[in-house]
Amino acid sequence: MAYLQGQKYALATMHKKEQVIAPILNCEFGLEVVVPENFNSDLFGTFTKEVERTGDQLEAARKKAEQAMKQTGLKLAVSSEGSFGPHPSFPYLAYNRELVLFIDQDEDLEITGYVANSETNFARKEVTSFDEAFDFGLSVGFPEHGLIVSAGDKLEVYKGITTEKQLREAVKLSKKVWVETDMRAMFNPTRMKNIELATLDLVKKLNSLCPKCDARGFEVVESKKGLPCCSCRLPTGLILSHLYECKKCQHKEELFYPNGQKQADPAFCQMCNP
Ligand SMILES: [Zn+2]
Ligand SMILES: [Zn+2]
Repeated sequence: MAYLQGQKYALATMHKKEQVIAPILNCEFGLEVVVPENFNSDLFGTFTKEVERTGDQLEAARKKAEQAMKQTGLKLAVSSEGSFGPHPSFPYLAYNRELVLFIDQDEDLEITGYVANSETNFARKEVTSFDEAFDFGLSVGFPEHGLIVSAGDKLEVYKGITTEKQLREAVKLSKKVWVETDMRAMFNPTRMKNIELATLDLVKKLNSLCPKCDARGFEVVESKKGLPCCSCRLPTGLILSHLYECKKCQHKEELFYPNGQKQADPAFCQMCNP
C-alpha cells in the first residue's frame, strides 16, 4: 500500500485548522485526521501573550505535535505555527510566516512546509470610541475577520469579536482601548489561506524523494543567485540553481535553472541596466 494510505494522524489544533489541512492530506495521501479532544494549544503560547511562546516557531510546533501524539497514541502528527510582525525588508508592511510540521515517528521523519508573505491583516490600534474601533475593524476585514479588544493590560481581554454588538460592548467598558486583529485561524480567513499554502508546500516536500536513499523530504536548502545576463553574460541577482539535500543521508544535488530560464533579461542586470 502507498505510504500513509489510510493511516490516522493527530492534528494539534483547537482553532479549526483541520478545515484546510485535513482535505489536502486526505486527498494527497489518503490520511485520516484525528483532532485530539480538549487539545489546548494555548499552553504552548498565545498571540495575545497571556502565555509566551517558548523556543522558536518550529520548536513550538514540535511541542504541539508531540502533545497531540501523546493524547491520541498515534505515531503520525501534524501541527502548525504562525508568526506575525513587520516585513523584514519593508517594515511598513505586515508579514505572516506560517509553518506546517509533519512528524512520522516510525520513520523518524520530520518535514516542514512554509509560506511567508504580506497576505495578512495583522494590525492594532488604540481607539477612544466605538466608531473608531468599527472603522479600524472595517479596514481589516471585520466581521469576517475577528477582533480582540483589550484595555492594554491582561485583565480585560475580549477575543473572537465577530459582531457589531460584541464590539460595542467590549469598547464601552473602557475609555481608551486597544483593538487588534484576532490571528487565531478560525477567526482569520486570510491566515487560514496561508496555512493552506504552507500545507501545499509540505505536500510538495513529502512527495520529493531522495534519489539516493528514497527518503521523503528531499528539499531545497539553498538558492544560489547568478543567472547570467543574456546580453553581457555577467551574473545577475536572479536564481541560478537550487541546492537540494536529503535529511536522512545528507546526499546533495544542485539543480540548475529551477525557473526554466537559462539567461536573465538584461533588465535585471546591474551592468546593462544599472
Ligand atoms: Zn537520502
Ligand atoms: Zn548584462
